[in-house]
Amino acid sequence: MKILVPVKRVIDYNVKVRVKSDNTGVETQNVKMSMNPFDEIAIEEAVRLKEAGKATEIIAVSVGPSQCQETLRTAMAIGADSGILIETDETVEPLNVAKLLKAVVDEQSPDIVIMGKQAIDDDSNQTGQMLSTLLGWGQATFASKVELEDGSAKVTRELDGGLETLSIKTPCIITTDLRLNEPRYASLPNIMKAKKKPMETKSPSDYGVEISNRLEILKVEEPAARAGGITVPDVDTLIDKLKNEAKVI
Ligand code: AMP
Repeated sequence: MKILVPVKRVIDYNVKVRVKSDNTGVETQNVKMSMNPFDEIAIEEAVRLKEAGKATEIIAVSVGPSQCQETLRTAMAIGADSGILIETDETVEPLNVAKLLKAVVDEQSPDIVIMGKQAIDDDSNQTGQMLSTLLGWGQATFASKVELEDGSAKVTRELDGGLETLSIKTPCIITTDLRLNEPRYASLPNIMKAKKKPMETKSPSDYGVEISNRLEILKVEEPAARAGGITVPDVDTLIDKLKNEAKVI
């Protein structure tokens, strides 16, 4: 059982994102970048499946600039066996990422692709769904539990009103939700070992994919500043303000 895990390099979730002064995007220069948190959960899940004897090989793949090598090394330090960097300095929209991932799937023949439900930089939540369509594979999105069975997977999904458990035939796409697992910290010995694991660098044209974007970002803006709150001395004052000032009751 081979598992492919796509990992995206994004602005670290602890960084306060700043919009560029010309409103064309967000500042990424001199900003700490890390693996998309949902992808860390995907790698962790794949490693747990391998540790449980259900998977034999984990390949991490990243599309982006050469610095994505660091992201792949992190994936390998957590437990991926090898990495593929599809190097490009261009902005790659979800459809193009999905086309590249399809080409990697055709080349590597994994049984399952486990990926993040969304990348926290542009919150697209599209790539897994598009890859599923391009491959003609089933998809189980927003997984909070994954159990592999013979030729299928039992996946529990988080819905607004509760949990849905479904059975999906492999090969398939599974996208991770926050509560699937808590990723481990990579230990120093594993970080050192990861440096020796195999990593291939390819270009989009090696996979026959032309990066042509269909979307144009017109404007990126900061959210409107929120006015500060106030502390009220007692419940009567609160009710009075809600009634007479905010006029919401
Ligand atoms: P998105 O559809 O952009 O919200 O991303 C959903 C998931 O697709 C991410 O969590 C990753 O697993 C994968 N993905 C998106 N973009 C990339 C990329 N450039 N390289 C590798 N994986 C990606």
